[in-house]
Amino acid sequence: MTKRARVTTTATTNYKIMKLTEHFDLAEFTASPNAKKLGIENKPTPEHVENIRALCVNILEPLRQIWGGAIKITSGYRCAELNAKTRGASSTSQHCKGEAADIKPANGDTLGLFRVLKSSGLRFDQLINEYPDENGVPSWVHVSFTTKRKNRGQVLIIGAKK
Ligand SMILES: [Zn+2]
Repeated sequence: MTKRARVTTTATTNYKIMKLTEHFDLAEFTASPNAKKLGIENKPTPEHVENIRALCVNILEPLRQIWGGAIKITSGYRCAELNAKTRGASSTSQHCKGEAADIKPANGDTLGLFRVLKSSGLRFDQLINEYPDENGVPSWVHVSFTTKRKNRGQVLIIGAKK
């Protein structure tokens, strides 16, 4: 059994254990070794929490069902302060709005996950094969979803070896 969500408005630290969907907790999106090192809390605004929830409800949870295995969030939310201190990070990154996550399957098959998501019919905004190796296997998979406009269904590759 998984734990029930315990959401309170009185204890500010409890936002971390907020359950978003069956298999995803907010803590997975806010965890950041870099933030920890820099002493940044990386706490999302209520609006950003809703964006993260929408990403889980519309993409990540259905993807997990299709994939049939655990999916890890390797990088989720980046608050403005953390993003400013992240080398190479774009200030318009969807990670800063809670609209994007970098993911890896527990079994390590990032290319398989990328292909399954690409052909899933799920209406993502962007799906990116990031930093693939010479065989086209992504280092991780970036996916985004927005509630603010039409999701573009873009599929991209960045950081490919020449
Ligand atoms: Zn990303």
